[in-house]
Amino acid sequence: MTSPDPELSPRRAARAEAERLATAALATMPPVEPVTRRRLRTEGETPSPRGQGGIRALLSSRGGTVATRRRRAGVLAVALTIVASGAVAIGAAASAGGGEGEAQTATVDTVAAVPGPPAVPAEGLPVPQLAAVPATATPCDDPDFTAALAAGDDSAAISAVGGGSAFREAVASGIAPCVSLSDPNREWVVVNKQRPLDPLDYRAGDLVMPQNVRALEESALRSAPASALTELVRAASEAGAGEIGYLSAFRSYSTQQSTYAGRVDVGGVEEADRESARAGYSEHQTGLAVDIVPCDGSCGTLDDIASSSQGAWVRDHAWEYGFITRYAEGRESVSGYLPEAWHQRYIGRELARAYHEGGYTTLEEFFGLPAAPTY
Ligand SMILES: [Zn+2]
Repeated sequence: MTSPDPELSPRRAARAEAERLATAALATMPPVEPVTRRRLRTEGETPSPRGQGGIRALLSSRGGTVATRRRRAGVLAVALTIVASGAVAIGAAASAGGGEGEAQTATVDTVAAVPGPPAVPAEGLPVPQLAAVPATATPCDDPDFTAALAAGDDSAAISAVGGGSAFREAVASGIAPCVSLSDPNREWVVVNKQRPLDPLDYRAGDLVMPQNVRALEESALRSAPASALTELVRAASEAGAGEIGYLSAFRSYSTQQSTYAGRVDVGGVEEADRESARAGYSEHQTGLAVDIVPCDGSCGTLDDIASSSQGAWVRDHAWEYGFITRYAEGRESVSGYLPEAWHQRYIGRELARAYHEGGYTTLEEFFGLPAAPTY
């Protein structure tokens, strides 16, 4: 029997020490794996070879469950935050030494986590990678999106981006310059005291009278909100909330001139501006807004809607039909108007859902626009 030599030779001792140090160093390094690819695969996505395809995979809601879409929205929020810091971050990464070159070409599908110094363990928390999304990623490069925009199909355009919340995020973050919030033909147009109609005497082209809705004036709506109002009124009635009629919907530039002048005659300019828009600045000129009234036998006034059963139902359910209460209680400093429970503005079902679920109370804040309290 031989026993191990208790004394290592100097060469073996040096090798053992080197192995010990290498093992210790490896133990402190995070594992290297493709973080974003792993997340996409978890959702059953096929990674796209293109950066734009990658962000579209995040943005698209087609074929996914609600939960999947919400996860995508979370990923998108991270991606958009990264894009917002955009070229600066990627430029810095490219010139900082480590990982240069990769930062210029990496896509959301292929980037791998870069080993760094030991970090505080945070299991389960995704670590955003600054190089994960190319600075040029934008829905405006998506052929499905641009084709829907060109066709005037607002709903299809929003779906192509991945739904109302994704659309709102893209517009508010500035990565969708092909979307104009000033285009009066769009359901997402924003008109306020700082954002006049363009042209000032704009007139909607597809005005129709809503079917099966009591109209107190011969006042039309654009076809999409007209159909939506018909559905809303029927649903409110079936729910037992009572009949909803309306007083005024589309108003032309010249009609708005008369409406506003009438208010000025009664209360002066300052008071009129809190309650009525000047011609060229009214949502009624878009054909997307309607002033509703409660009808129980005969119809009440605009002021009656807030405390009526119809008004209560509208507060809870109008968003399901694409409408929002545009001038909410206590928001005059942003919207520019006193609260108007009767004034319902159509923005389409996808955006109204995002507005409702996001808890928004002004369209200005929804799209990240400045407040518009005055002209
Ligand atoms: Zn109104």
